[in-house]
Amino acid sequence: MANQFIDTARITVRSGDGGNGAVSFHREKYVAAGGPDGGDGGRGGNIVLQVDDHLSTLMDFRYKRKYVAENGMNGAGKRCTGRDGADLVLKVPRGTVVRDAQTREIIQDMSGSEPFILCRGGKGGWGNKHFATPTRQVPRFAKSGLPGQSRDVILELKLLADVGLVGFPNVGKSTLLSVVSKAQPKIANYHFTTLFPNLGVVYVEEGVSFVMADIPGIIEGAAEGAGLGHDFLRHIDRCRLLIHVVDVSGSEGRDPVADFEAINAELARYSPELAARKMLVAANKVDIMEDPSLLARLREHVEGLGLELLEISAASHQGVRALVQKAAAELAQLPPVTIYEPTYVERPPEVDTSGALDIQQYDDVWTVEGPWLQRLISNVNFDDYESRNWFDRMLRESGLFERLEELGIKDGDTVSLYNLEFEYRR
Ligand code: GDP
Ligand code: MG
Repeated sequence: MANQFIDTARITVRSGDGGNGAVSFHREKYVAAGGPDGGDGGRGGNIVLQVDDHLSTLMDFRYKRKYVAENGMNGAGKRCTGRDGADLVLKVPRGTVVRDAQTREIIQDMSGSEPFILCRGGKGGWGNKHFATPTRQVPRFAKSGLPGQSRDVILELKLLADVGLVGFPNVGKSTLLSVVSKAQPKIANYHFTTLFPNLGVVYVEEGVSFVMADIPGIIEGAAEGAGLGHDFLRHIDRCRLLIHVVDVSGSEGRDPVADFEAINAELARYSPELAARKMLVAANKVDIMEDPSLLARLREHVEGLGLELLEISAASHQGVRALVQKAAAELAQLPPVTIYEPTYVERPPEVDTSGALDIQQYDDVWTVEGPWLQRLISNVNFDDYESRNWFDRMLRESGLFERLEELGIKDGDTVSLYNLEFEYRR
């Protein structure tokens, strides 16, 4: 079945490129040649993810799929540093899990409120003002900025609800949610009205509130993928408490006990873990109850299982307050939801080192530039030992050092690779 519910989105993001450093020399009247004063390039903008509690869907990411942060500006003379590119902040609903699109590994779970840098902007290149030394007073070179990173990611929203409403269609789940929260789900007297999991924040009293999700579409057979249920069920993975809404009015000729058991069987088939969660039973529509024995039978059945049953009428608000307070009291006893741990390990990318490099000599300084080298450097975390080793190996295998030897590099000369400099030793 095609997934008609917007709870995943695949997007491409790109952080900004760093600006280039400038080559410039200070000029004053009557002074022939001043010192180097080329400023640095600005940093490229980052792609940042930030939780926004006003959002409950990934809808926006369906319409816009490409996000590019601003580039850093180039440096200029008079030691002018280029402006940094602005970060691009993407707002996501709380609970959004970010995965690598290729490997599906979890990069980040956006459950906390800390912003997360998904792609770092490229560093700006140094201007020539950095390269003056006593022996090198006229550095006629500057560094190019490093490119930003591009990434394909999948956003996946599992609702971070504390309480999930389960029950057959039309028992009054949406009505209950609309009554206890500010959510305004569609309410209509036909099955499968709510095709989207609605979230609402339920305020109990000052300092006590919880998130309730209306999880529609649980029907028999859904765990085998037959109905609408399966897609929705993914959304309740994180609920700590279930409220099982049962229609006891008899208005649709249903048997409350049979309904209750059918939904429980459904839950157990989908996830035994979920079925084992704490559950309250809300016997709804008591305002139009025709046959009180239906309620009595359900109560006996439910209490026999050691569960608590509360009578409510979502439509007339009867018993709703007591249900909400009971749910809050239960939640206070329950452990917090599981946060998914990142499983993603940064891996060195494939870099083809066969392309030609541009090698320039300025006295005892050798600058080396080229697309693959740029890519290589921007992908190395120099704080990490493994990454540095990998970088060394790639450089050696590329034949760069043989090339420098051919050109006449001497021990003690400086090799300058973008924002990296080292002394050459055979
Ligand atoms: P859901 O499919 O479980 O979300 O059910 P809805 O909330 O959409 O409700 C289905 C129908 O039952 C709607 O016509 C509601 O107005 C009605 N309904 C819900 N709760 C009550 C109630 O407590 N009393 C009465 N009389 N009708 C209710
Ligand atoms: Mg509904």
